[in-house]
Amino acid sequence: MSDSVFDDAVARLTRIGEMTGCSSQVINALSHPNAMMHVNVEVRMDDGHIHYFPGYRCQHNHVLGPTKGGIRFHPDVDAAEVQALALWMTLKCAVVNLPFGGAKGGVSVDPKALSPMELERLSRAYVRAMADFIGPERDIPAPDVYTNALIMGWMMDEYEKITRVKNPAVITGKPIALGGSLGRDDATGRGAYLCIKELQKRDCLTPEETTVAVQGFGNGGYHVARLLAEDGYKVVAVSDSQGGIYRSEGLDIKSVYQQKQEHKELKAIYCDGSVCETREHDTLSNDELLTLDVDILIPAALDSVITTDNANGIKARYLVEIANGPVTSDADAILKDKGIIVIPDILANAGGVTVSYFEWVQNRTGYRWDKDKVRDELHTVMSNAFNQANELVQNKGLDFRDAVYAVALTRLSEGIEAHGTPDYFNGG
Ligand code: GLU
Repeated sequence: MSDSVFDDAVARLTRIGEMTGCSSQVINALSHPNAMMHVNVEVRMDDGHIHYFPGYRCQHNHVLGPTKGGIRFHPDVDAAEVQALALWMTLKCAVVNLPFGGAKGGVSVDPKALSPMELERLSRAYVRAMADFIGPERDIPAPDVYTNALIMGWMMDEYEKITRVKNPAVITGKPIALGGSLGRDDATGRGAYLCIKELQKRDCLTPEETTVAVQGFGNGGYHVARLLAEDGYKVVAVSDSQGGIYRSEGLDIKSVYQQKQEHKELKAIYCDGSVCETREHDTLSNDELLTLDVDILIPAALDSVITTDNANGIKARYLVEIANGPVTSDADAILKDKGIIVIPDILANAGGVTVSYFEWVQNRTGYRWDKDKVRDELHTVMSNAFNQANELVQNKGLDFRDAVYAVALTRLSEGIEAHGTPDYFNGG
């Protein structure tokens, strides 16, 4: 892997861009984020002292529209990670053809160590620090790792207090009562599920004979596991940051979820609670989960979990990336040589930002969509994007990741080159 996760993201973009005939002007433009804000978020802690948390917001590229992307609260957040995540948002919005560029924000904090009131003060302080940088027609945040609808509601409220107007379109992923969209809660998992349904059609998969392992049981991982299990897929393993569970006959995902809600970690399932009493599970580590002999592996936690160190051990036939950046760029070739079909993050997890777009549209028009409309539109967007990439896979012999990047880079190139190319300015 390159020096930083951002360098690594640029390395992959450059490799695929050059291979698919993208101009150096475009690759250069996408290698340089438009703007980066670094603040120290000032929060009065419950014991009275003031703590300063490093906070970031990167607006990567706004050629196709205002920038869009989540805000994460995690101890590992740093400038390079935020920039990589923002670059992936630019590509993601282009893959599903949304009128947005990419952005990402984050605070370096362990949110589980904060009290509820400290968490609210941190969320509001972040918006106070960023209020001039974001806006419904400039840059629109959303949830990401360890942020949720409640936090988006606080952030919207703080922004509205500052601007003194109702402005729900400044942020998406809000509670429904405050202008959120129906169907946003499970949209990331549903988007990945829709990709797998397209694969099912294309490769004639039989759900009952197809095994699945999911690393990460947050918003994305839980919903994709639930939807696949409802369709008869055998979800044999799931994990969270504490560890994982395995059951060869398949897990009852809804009970696992209930247990996790009660005990806050999957490990608790082994030792008490009804699921543990009635069914047998084996425990396994997050690393072991990645190398299970399953048909579909879904990394749905953090970036850089599959590297040159463990890529050779991956046995799955399909790798569906719900996490952003779970595979380092130098591991791509290993997975390709092994014939593993990778549905990349910028397509597989694009359901979240797609329904965020629907939320923004509803807020701006003042007209609410019902859940069926949200789901129908999401289905259309995801299957169009999947099939566009699949056409390049079938007709141009690209692998799936390269094909998805090619779809995004074509749209971005049209936007960037509409302002002129070196040939034009040289009179060529
Ligand atoms: N954080 C999500 C992502 O990485 C959602 C972004 C959004 O809804 O704007 O795609």
